[in-house]
This record gives sequence, structure tokens and C-alpha cells, in this order.
Amino acid sequence: MSTLTQGSRIFLPLQSMSECHACGSTKNLRICSGCGERTYCSRECQFNQWKEHKPFCKTNRIGVATIYPIFAFMVDQVHFSALATDAAHPGLKHKILSDEPETSLPDGTIGRLIRLGPPFSVLAPGAEPSPDRLQAWHPTGNDMSSRFLLMDFFMRHGPVAPSVLSVCLAILETIYTTATVPSSSSSVPSSIRTRLRYRSSPVVDFGICSGSVTPEPSTLSKPLPVIYQYEDGTILPGPDRENHLWIYFDTLNGERILLDSNLFSMGQMDSVDTGPYHVEPYSRPIPAVFFDRSERRRGVLVHQERKSFSILRNLDLHQITWPSNSTGDIQSLRAVASLLDTIKAPSHASETDRDLCLQSTVAHVKCMQEVIQSNRWKSFPVKPEVFINMPVPPGPAGEAVREQINQVRGGRKDSKKAQRGKKRK
Ligand SMILES: [Zn+2]
Ligand SMILES: [Zn+2]
Repeated sequence: MSTLTQGSRIFLPLQSMSECHACGSTKNLRICSGCGERTYCSRECQFNQWKEHKPFCKTNRIGVATIYPIFAFMVDQVHFSALATDAAHPGLKHKILSDEPETSLPDGTIGRLIRLGPPFSVLAPGAEPSPDRLQAWHPTGNDMSSRFLLMDFFMRHGPVAPSVLSVCLAILETIYTTATVPSSSSSVPSSIRTRLRYRSSPVVDFGICSGSVTPEPSTLSKPLPVIYQYEDGTILPGPDRENHLWIYFDTLNGERILLDSNLFSMGQMDSVDTGPYHVEPYSRPIPAVFFDRSERRRGVLVHQERKSFSILRNLDLHQITWPSNSTGDIQSLRAVASLLDTIKAPSHASETDRDLCLQSTVAHVKCMQEVIQSNRWKSFPVKPEVFINMPVPPGPAGEAVREQINQVRGGRKDSKKAQRGKKRK
């Protein structure tokens, strides 16, 4: 049964199909396709209850497969917010002496070694770096495109825990809060409920998984481990594949869907086209890997889950409200701090992690509210355009890549037109 926990604003979706809402039968259960919140054993039972259920049935059921580029965009925003903090990667603040893709690392393994030189800030405040600045930052780079790629790589090597947690908190706050309680018969709801689904099955839980990501053995281009080395020989570890975090969505029919937008700095550069989502100034794809268990793992990294932490069904979070104009009250601050420590265990969250998470949650809530209230999500492609290993650098150096993407877009449109043309004939 759908429930609104005592004193909470969070309205939990159906957790399981236990019985028919009309007669109590436990057999042949099907879900009401209008809301995804009621189960019936037969058309007859659904029909008998319809008059009572109708006012509560109308629900915006947003497909996770449709809206995930917005979630990925929000993760990326956290990385970009981190650039102004001490969490910004040192690679952005030092000259690059060399970038050796396959070299013998100090521990004896083969990997990518990036040597950091004297201090140099590649990111010009408030602007894209000029080609001259990039050249000065990374003089040994092959070309402008590879310099941008390395800069992107450092920019996306941002704090993982605040990025996944803030996105989950924003989903909780904007999708699972509602004044519309279908089980109450006293009043007709004034607003349409919003819920997530995957295909036709309602999302019954979501949260964060912790575990490792390992190279897929059958993949030819396995991403190599990365380390950084300062001039004095000090080693800085690369992205931590052993202790990684990603977002999961569980559906009523038992599927676990994964969304990981933090793999870019580990060498998996799948990204989604941002064109249809109006998330300017983004003119380039955003890193995101999204799949269910039935999908072929086309990725070069495989997720191995150790633990999962529900955000939707964590009752401690149900009391928190996210202010729209400040960085959070004491209650949300404490909740965020303890959650970050939990998902990061055995390591601890830094003060920067907490600040980033709080500030980002507030920003994401605004972004999500706009997408939902404007009904903009209804015009999103059912399935986003996905690019494999096609990062697009901004500015002049990205022109060639952007042109390539436009050709892909144009080409696909043309082929669709051609297909429609054929059908008409
Ligand atoms: Zn029934
Ligand atoms: Zn319904």
C-alpha cells in the first residue's frame, strides 16, 4: 500500500504487489497503468473501484530512461561547482609535464602516468580557456583536442559522494513529496502526483550503491589505472575504482537500474546528448552510463555492488525540507553529514563535501522543480541520444567534434525521414 509516513512530506510509492485493492485476492495481480499505485486481480475489480479511484489516479509517470540526462547534468554541475573549492583537481592548477598513456607505474603495474609541473591555473575565471592558455598548460599535448580532453578529465574527476547524494536528495524532494495522497478519500487532490517508472513498472526505491568498477575482461580497450606525480616525486592517486558510488533505481517487477555519471575520469566516456534538454550553456554531451541488468554491458567497466543505501526509504530524510534560498538548516546539515560519512565509509566526508552536497541539493531542487512544473520533461526524447567515447571540447578546438555530432544528428534525422517516406509509399 502507498503510505505517507507520520509527520512526513514524503509519499512512498507502492513497494510490492501484495493484494487486489478491491477484493483482497493475491492472484493474477496487475498494476493500474494510470498511476502505478494500485493493484487489481481483474478488470472487473478495477471497474468496480474506478469511481472511487479516478480522482486519485491521474499521475505524471516520468520514465527514468527519459529523464536521466537531467540527473547526469546535475552530477556534472557538482563537478563544476567543486572547481571553485579545494576539491578542484591539482591537475587544473599545475602545468602538465607529460601524459604517458602506457607506462610502468611505481607499483609495477602498467597505467597512465600524468606528471604535474609548477603551479599554473588552466581555468580562466568565468571563461573557456583560450587555445594559448591550453598550450601553455600542456605544451607536450598532441593537439588542442587532446588538451581539452585532459582538462575535461580533471574537471570530471570531482567529488563522487556529494554528486550522487545531492541528486538523490533532489529526486526525493521534488518527485516524492506531494499533497496528493491517493488513499485519503476525504478530499479530491488539487495537483497531479509525479512518480518515476522504468518501462511500465513503477520505481519503488532508489538510492546509492557502493562497490567497485572493474574493466570488462572481454573489452579490447580496457581503461588503465591512472596516477599523478608531482615534480618532487610525490604520488597522487587517480580515480578510485575500488571504492566507487553510483545511483540505483529499483522497479516493482524487480529490476535494478543503474546510473553512473562519474566514470569519465576512469576512462569510460559514454555521454548523453544534451541538445533536447535546454541545459545551456552545455553544448556538449554529458557523461552518463545508464543500464538495466538485461541490457548488454556495452561498457568497458563493470559495476560490482557491495552495499546499497536507500534514499527514498530512509525515514531520517523524510523530515528534512530543502530551503530554496539558503544552504540548509541544521537538521539537513546533520543528515547530509551523517549520510556522506555512511556512503563514504571507511573514509570520511570533508567539510567541502558537505558544503557542496548541501548547496548542490538546493540548486538541483530548483532545476527539477522547473523541469516538472513546466512539464518540459514531456518533450524529452523517450530514449536519449547516447555517444560512446565522444567528448566534445568547448570553444574553437571543439568545432570539429561538434560538427561530427551534428552530422550524426542530421544523419539520423535524415534516415528517420527516409523511413517515414517509405512507409507512406
Ligand atoms: Zn480483485
Ligand atoms: Zn490508478
